[in-house]
Amino acid sequence: QPVLAVVGRPNVGKSTLVNRLLGRRQAVVKDTPGVTRDRVSYDAVWNGRSFTIVDTGGWDPDAEGVYASVTSQAEMAMSAADAILLVVDANVGSSATDEAAAKVLRRSKRPVLVVANKVDDQRAEAEVAELWSLGLGQPYPVSALHGRGSGDLLDEVLRAFPETPRERFGGGGGPRRVALVGKPNVGKSSMLNKLVGEQRAVVDETSGTTVDPVDSLVELDGEVWRFVDTAGLRRRVKTADGTEYYASLRTKAAIEAAEVVIVLIDGSNPLTEQDLRIISMVIESGRALVIAYNKWDLVDEDRRRSLEKEIDRDLVQVRWAERVNVSAETGRAIGKLAPSLRRALESWDQRISTGRINSWISDIVAAQPPPVRGGKQSKIMFATQAHTRPPTLVLFSSGFIEAGYRRFLERRFRESFGFEGSPVRVVVRVKE
Ligand code: GDP
Repeated sequence: QPVLAVVGRPNVGKSTLVNRLLGRRQAVVKDTPGVTRDRVSYDAVWNGRSFTIVDTGGWDPDAEGVYASVTSQAEMAMSAADAILLVVDANVGSSATDEAAAKVLRRSKRPVLVVANKVDDQRAEAEVAELWSLGLGQPYPVSALHGRGSGDLLDEVLRAFPETPRERFGGGGGPRRVALVGKPNVGKSSMLNKLVGEQRAVVDETSGTTVDPVDSLVELDGEVWRFVDTAGLRRRVKTADGTEYYASLRTKAAIEAAEVVIVLIDGSNPLTEQDLRIISMVIESGRALVIAYNKWDLVDEDRRRSLEKEIDRDLVQVRWAERVNVSAETGRAIGKLAPSLRRALESWDQRISTGRINSWISDIVAAQPPPVRGGKQSKIMFATQAHTRPPTLVLFSSGFIEAGYRRFLERRFRESFGFEGSPVRVVVRVKE
């Protein structure tokens, strides 16, 4: 669900506003002592849409001067939120601190709304216009105390939230996009033909730029999927030295165009560098992944054992990916592909609420704090899943967090919340 961050100087009425936005029934209680010394995120609902409100003011535990603290609030809001409220006291007007925060926020790609608080009556509204000077567009007058204008503000917030990230992939309920990739001769075309099977291949007429349609719509397990760039599989371009053009450049493009990728590997032969490179491409591009060992009809007991060793040795970094052992030749286990694709996409789309993540991280850090470096103990103050597709965990920390500890957190994140089939990113923001 989308995250709304609330930024502002002390005493402008942030907490009162958050309380107001949450509705009467829900009192703001600062709880969960621990790393996040005061918990700052709350679940809110408006017009049937739920979202998370983060009060960034509660985040900064170090006394470091209001000016710096508001600027760092703004920075945190930019990386963590889908929309931001900059709360200003309309009676005071914009101060140097508000202007500094506005300057940071103007660089933000997220929508920012200026909230002119303490506008308790009609008279005060005249003063609001002055806040246009912050360069963030129209100020919204509210009275957090009396509730004046808060409904309009929430309507505006919902409008400001981006459409579901699904949009990025031309979503809106269309077929999910699958790439079928692998080095030459692993059986990609055979697999596509098998998947299409006896059923009529449903081709997409619209996307073909040349005579060939680029993608194929394929029905698997009662659902239509868009296999991207199957033209590349059908029309094989052999270069002079016999290598396939498809193998390099087009693989990358197909991965980028897809949401989930099936990497086909020849199970009957040893794993190669090229297989690993293709898997790395998928991880780097952050797509969901299913690994399919093809030609399983040729795999005997001996090969099976050596393959298990290869997996333990070379595929540790994708332990989270589901593996299916298939045969394009015999049709073995091909029915398992669609459920694996679905599970991978579910993880890829999954969003854990900021509240759950913060109680999770406080438990972990309490049990095993980040290692002390140079006599200093870094504190993790706040964590949020800033993105899905792929899931991205953002940690706000008082100091450097080393890669080993980041990997540890990623492992624990997966253990606690799943994410099978999807890469997970862990990003650390250090607040100096
Ligand atoms: P591509 O280059 O990845 O598209 O691979 P092809 O689909 O052209 O297959 C390469 C060769 O492997 C062909 O001779 C296929 O008949 C064979 N092949 C593909 N899948 C299987 C399989 O599951 N089992 C066996 N035994 N052979 C396969």
